[in-house]
Amino acid sequence: TRRKLIAGNWKMNGDLAALAEIDAIAAAAVAYPGVDVAIGVPATLIAPAAARAPGLAIGAEDVHSADSGAFTGCISAGMVREVGASFAIVGHSERRGGYDETDAEVKGKAEALLRHGLNGILCIGETAEQRDAGNAVAVVTGQLRGSMPWGARSGWLSIAYEPIWAIGTGRTPTVADAAAIHGAIRATLVELLGDDAQAMRILYGGSVTGDNAAALLSAGDVDGALVGGASLTAAKFVPIIAAAA
Ligand code: 13P
Repeated sequence: TRRKLIAGNWKMNGDLAALAEIDAIAAAAVAYPGVDVAIGVPATLIAPAAARAPGLAIGAEDVHSADSGAFTGCISAGMVREVGASFAIVGHSERRGGYDETDAEVKGKAEALLRHGLNGILCIGETAEQRDAGNAVAVVTGQLRGSMPWGARSGWLSIAYEPIWAIGTGRTPTVADAAAIHGAIRATLVELLGDDAQAMRILYGGSVTGDNAAALLSAGDVDGALVGGASLTAAKFVPIIAAAA
């Protein structure tokens, strides 16, 4: 059985004052030892968050695929690891769409995580247009095949299915729709990874809240959540952790 993983993604939100929320989340998470809890934060907050919340997995929201070099403005997996990150998100739709990241680039980023001993959350998800055209499964499984890193194993990598139409919109798939697409992702993982596919966690992301988390987490092959807006405060995030317990 797969342990549930509830991961936050702060995106470009959070200043030093917001570290009080990290403290509150870390304190509350202790009450749910059966749930893995992680938070991806802006690069500026990785070191202070990791220093004050040693019991919580603190991660980066992106990394470069290279270890170092002439890549102005970018940050490598080794750099975030050195200051306390234990994981990173790669391939978020806001990176794929906003910065034209390809499957090949996302694959390279995930492989950089493995080189540096970081866990990874690899994101995939379709647009509303792709879903309406009946192509959701094809798009998502295509992204999965194209961005799956060499060396992918359940011990360090999770997949996050984040339909773009559900991100920040208050819309979510039905439990049946979530189960169907997570099942298709699982079947593709079996093709790619063999037996280890059954142990790899597939998170759902997109407008997860304390109110809908229990239902979404009840869907087959939904092994956790990747949470944006509702991860910014302990008041909103802790009920999602509780729903996974
Ligand atoms: P919201 O939870 O704000 O919809 O964001 C989801 C997301 O993109 C997490 O990575």
